[in-house]
This record gives sequence, C-alpha cells and structure tokens, in this order.
Amino acid sequence: MVTKSVQDLSTLVSLSKRRGFVFQSSEVYGGLGSCWDYGPLGSLMKANVKRAWWNAMTRRADIVGIDAAILMHPTVWKASGHVDGFSDPLVDCKDCKTRFRSDNTESYLKDKKCPNCGSKNLSEPRQFNLMFKTHMGPVEDSGGIVYLRPETAQGIFVNFQNCQQSSRYKVPFGIAQIGKSFRNEITPGNFIFRTREFEQMEMQYFVKPGTDAKFFEEWKETRWNFYLKYGIKKENLQFHPHGPTELAHYAKAAVDVQYKFPMGFSELEGIHNRGDFDLSQHSKFSGKSLEYFDEANKEKFIPYVIETAVGCDRLFLAFLCDAYREEVTKNDEGEDTRVVLGLHPQIAPIKVAILPLSKKEELTSVALKLREELCEDFDVMYDESASIGKRYRRQDEIGTPFCVTVDFDTLNDKAVTVRHRDRMSQERIDCTQLNTYIVENLKKF
Ligand code: ATP
Repeated sequence: MVTKSVQDLSTLVSLSKRRGFVFQSSEVYGGLGSCWDYGPLGSLMKANVKRAWWNAMTRRADIVGIDAAILMHPTVWKASGHVDGFSDPLVDCKDCKTRFRSDNTESYLKDKKCPNCGSKNLSEPRQFNLMFKTHMGPVEDSGGIVYLRPETAQGIFVNFQNCQQSSRYKVPFGIAQIGKSFRNEITPGNFIFRTREFEQMEMQYFVKPGTDAKFFEEWKETRWNFYLKYGIKKENLQFHPHGPTELAHYAKAAVDVQYKFPMGFSELEGIHNRGDFDLSQHSKFSGKSLEYFDEANKEKFIPYVIETAVGCDRLFLAFLCDAYREEVTKNDEGEDTRVVLGLHPQIAPIKVAILPLSKKEELTSVALKLREELCEDFDVMYDESASIGKRYRRQDEIGTPFCVTVDFDTLNDKAVTVRHRDRMSQERIDCTQLNTYIVENLKKF
C-alpha cells in the first residue's frame, strides 16, 4: 500500500464542498470574495476545534474566559495603534487594474512588476487601513464611526481589571477568548487560510515585568504540545522567530508557529511578548490607571503580556491538511484508493456511524434505536443507502472513527460489528456495551 498526503488545496476545497465542510459564501449569487460558510460537518468540526482550544486554556487554574462584543469604543483602536498603523502598502496596476500588496509580492519586490500582467505601469505604494468601518446609530456622520474589530485581543485588555477583580486571580494569570475578527485584507486567498471575516482564539497572559521572558518560553512549549496532542505531525510544524525588522510595533519578542500547508510553511499562530504596551496605552487614552497591586510584595506595576493568537479557520485548515491521506492498493482490477481523514477523534465531526446492513425494517428499527441512544453522548450519523463497503468509505472520507453495523445476527445475538477507521479491524460488541466501548476506545484511538 502506498500512502499519499495532500498535494494541493484544491483537493480539500472540493472534498469540503462535496461532503459539507465548507461552502463558498453566497454561492448562488456567484460567491463573495474570501468569505466562506461552514456546512453541516464543518460547523461540527469547527466547534470541536474551538472546544479543544477553549478547554486547553480555561480548564487551567490560572486562566479565565470572556466573550467580548465585536463593536468597541472607537478610542480603543486609537490607543491600540490600529487607526494610525494597521495598514498594508498597496500598489495599483494602471494597465490591468489589479491591486496587490507591495511588501509580499515577489514580482514587485524583484523587478517592480505587476504579478498579474507583468506591467511596470504601477502606482506608488499607498498605505491602506485594514479595518472595516461602519456607523453606529441612525446618522451616518463621522461622529458615529465604529470599527469591526480586527483582533480579539483588545476586548481582553480593556477587561483586564474587570476580570482580575471579579475572579480575584493574582498575576500571573490569563484571559482567553474566541471570536470573530474582520480585516479588509488586500490579498486574501488560499481557501480559508486568509479571509476577511475569520475567527481568532487568543489568550493574553499577564505577568510581572522581568518574568516575561520565562513565560514567553513556557507558552511556546505549551502551544507546541497542544498541536502534537491533537495529532498534528511534528514534521509539519516549525517555529519562526521574528527578526528585528519583522517585529510589530508593540512586540518585545515574537515567534510564529508555522504549519506546512500545501503552499509551504506559513503562520498558524503568533506568540508575542507585548510588554506593557497595551495596558499603558489604554491607561493613557482612558485616563484610568490599569496598574495591578501585588498584595504580597506591596508593589504596583503594569503587567506585561504574553499573547498566544491562532486563527480558528487556519487551524481547521491545518487539521484537514494534516489528516488527509490517500491509501492506494493494487488489486486485480488495477488500483483502489481509500481516502481517509485521519482526524484526532475529538476533532472529527462525527464519532460514530450507524449502518444497517439492509434497508429491511427489522434491521433499520434496531439501528435507529441505537442511533437515538448514542446521540445522547456523541455526534452520530445514520446511513442506510448503498453497499456497506461504500458506506465505510464515505465515513473514512469525513474522518469518522467508528462504524457500527447492524446485521441479521444482531437480531439474535444483540451485538453489532464495530469497524475502526484506521486499522479497518472489526469487533463484535454487545449492544449494551456499545456506549462504554466507544467512550473507552475514542480515548485510545
Ligand atoms: P498574517 O501575517 O498571516 O497576516 P498576522 O501576523 O497579521 O497574520 P495576527 O494579527 O498575529 O496575524 O493574528 C493571529 C492569528 O490570526 C494568525 O496567526 C492567523 O492564524 C489568524 N489570522 C490573522 N489574519 C487572518 C485572516 N485574514 N484570515 C484567517 N486567519 C487570520
């Protein structure tokens, strides 16, 4: 058997559409650029991705969660530097009218050429702010301008004191949040890798100045281990430390966790030492002190922040890329290809498929009853159409760890056949033991 991994994003785009993971937004109207909708399986899987991250963060004794509003006071974005500084250099091609970023377009950097038509008839780079603006209230004047947040982090900074005081946590402690962010990206693309509306999973860890370098290293390790725990292959991950020219205005140190997507190693998560930049800025702009009082040492300070920020959609894509495999075996008729999404069982959208061997009522009634019982505890799919072999393959392609077949023997022995996605081994399990078997074997998967 030969195993092939994914070579091209288009393989995943088409699988996602065919099986209901991700659809183009507003497809019936021709689609809306760089916006994507999560379908029946995609929305289940995305919820699992978020749950994995959320639990890894908020089940610790030193991290609380929040869910802040997308719209925030406009001064937040002045203080954070986004109104003045959150922009990319944009160049227009005067011949083919393509717009592109001048700081990461190879043909421009090399020969000052348009990446689309090769023309050198280009505008000078202009700074283009990436924030979406909208208006609050009935009058569309400049006084009512608000922004769709371009990152979730600011909701955490402005709630630092609320969280610290209400939870009575002592520094060092963290605040975690999952939520939508919006950026009017000039060059979105690569499926859900870079979109204009996306979800971020961010955690800000507040520490005493002087301990920041130690916590930065700790968080690098913690986040690396998170990816390994959920089955991402080690060889597809790497750290990319930021050099002095790459560092953002707020950062003392930064490292990206990069994943080897089909288009090459690219940022999956950013880990930053933000110093006291954000809390100091919000103190300055709001006129309120955001100092922390350390009771034990009777000292006041503005905490430093170690941030971990990963895109939920980007991680979803990394999981798909990492899990996809084609198992090719030679047989009498030529070649047979089994497509498998080898997802970690906690990430897989469906945990168990219930498959009656035939559509006869005596079998389907038993199978449907099992479905009812199991769906109390798991996401279950019921499928009665096509041959059993085809149905196994359908489940393999969406990453379902276990298939449960109800056959004619079930009527006598009250047992079912459980098939394992990766090993393809089969076991006969008593119906009364099925739930426990699945719970235990999902852990061992
Ligand atoms: P990039 O360099 O890829 O534009 P960034 O360095 O601006 O990303 P951050 O501001 O650090 O990204 O955001 C943290 C994480 O949010 C990124 O690592 C990425 O996973 C995700 N993210 C950022 N922008 C987008 C986007 N347009 N679409 C999807 N995910 C995004």
